[in-house]
Amino acid sequence: ISEVDLVNKDSTVRVAVRIRPQNSREQIDMCRVCTTVTFGEPQIFLGSDKAFTFDYVFDTNSNQCDIYSECVERLVDSTLHGYNATVLAYGQTGSGKTYTMGTGFDHESETSESVLLGIIPRAVRHIFSGIEQLEACSSSELTATAGSPQFSLAVQYIELYNEDIFDLLDPFNKNSNFKIHEDGNGQITISGASIKPIFQPQDALKYLQQGALARTTASTKMNDQSSRSHALFTIFVRRQRLLAPNDNASGNDLETLTSKFHFVDLAGSERLKRTQATGERAREGISINCGLLALGNCISALGDTSKRALHVPYRDSKLTRLLQDSLGGNSQTLMIACVSPSDRDFMETLNTLKYANRAR
Ligand code: ADP
Ligand code: MG
Repeated sequence: ISEVDLVNKDSTVRVAVRIRPQNSREQIDMCRVCTTVTFGEPQIFLGSDKAFTFDYVFDTNSNQCDIYSECVERLVDSTLHGYNATVLAYGQTGSGKTYTMGTGFDHESETSESVLLGIIPRAVRHIFSGIEQLEACSSSELTATAGSPQFSLAVQYIELYNEDIFDLLDPFNKNSNFKIHEDGNGQITISGASIKPIFQPQDALKYLQQGALARTTASTKMNDQSSRSHALFTIFVRRQRLLAPNDNASGNDLETLTSKFHFVDLAGSERLKRTQATGERAREGISINCGLLALGNCISALGDTSKRALHVPYRDSKLTRLLQDSLGGNSQTLMIACVSPSDRDFMETLNTLKYANRAR
């Protein structure tokens, strides 16, 4: 595959819908299944008359491997060639965002070859094996123009709650004053947030687990903060190679490509119940909606070529500000809208499908 082919120029945002299986509670309560997937087409019906078409639709029987190989694998390849990529999981609480992303470590089989592994652990392995291949392949066909690329990797794991940033890899760092910066090349960085180098897949998984633990510990104290906050796990990729002197006028030089892959487990998309909409809870509700609202507006502007040139409202929330250099442009974005199949969630599922539909 040539590097150009890896980036699909006319569609930087793809949308997938994943319907989780009914859980035992829903089966005991005899909830009806109100979603149907058209065979062989990425189309979902909600009830009998509401149809939506996306780039991918995964029915209740699809597994973690299907999701990864059909829509995430290609983004990992583009990251290794210097492009930024973002995968976002959207949906109401309990719809399968954390399961799909692989950010939770509440299940038993977190370590080995488990078929239950979510997107992040799969992507981590794929990045390491991809790097191994690229380094090996280039040194065997060493050209006159460039040496073999050398890669270095690092991760960051932060949580956004009420427009505040928490460093999940340094959870006791309470006094830190996190600031979002944009450099001259439009690259976004967070000052004050830790970045940990990784050398093998287990390093990344260790930090993922450490962050998941920091998240759940905080959430038991703070009214299930995790369903109301966004979690951003980022892998930074730096690729360097030595260019031969005859290839550029300035003599021996180092070519450096940097890219990042964001994995975002978004806050629950459900509306706040009116009874809860008071005091501190109300403030949470409003600012979470602010991130999801801004994200919807940015993604919809990116999908609309006439609007894209005019204005993409990244500055409307911290979430979109942080993702600014990884949504649009040369970046590849995948939004996975997670939904429940059960009739009791009909309205939330409809809202999720409408939100995801705006992204197309
Ligand atoms: P969310 O993060 O959106 O709140 P979770 O990922 O925590 O939702 O999922 C809620 C529950 O449903 C968890 O117990 C999870 O293991 C289970 N679950 C979600 N999606 C699936 C799936 N595709 N297959 C099997 N179980 C799932
Ligand atoms: Mg979750």
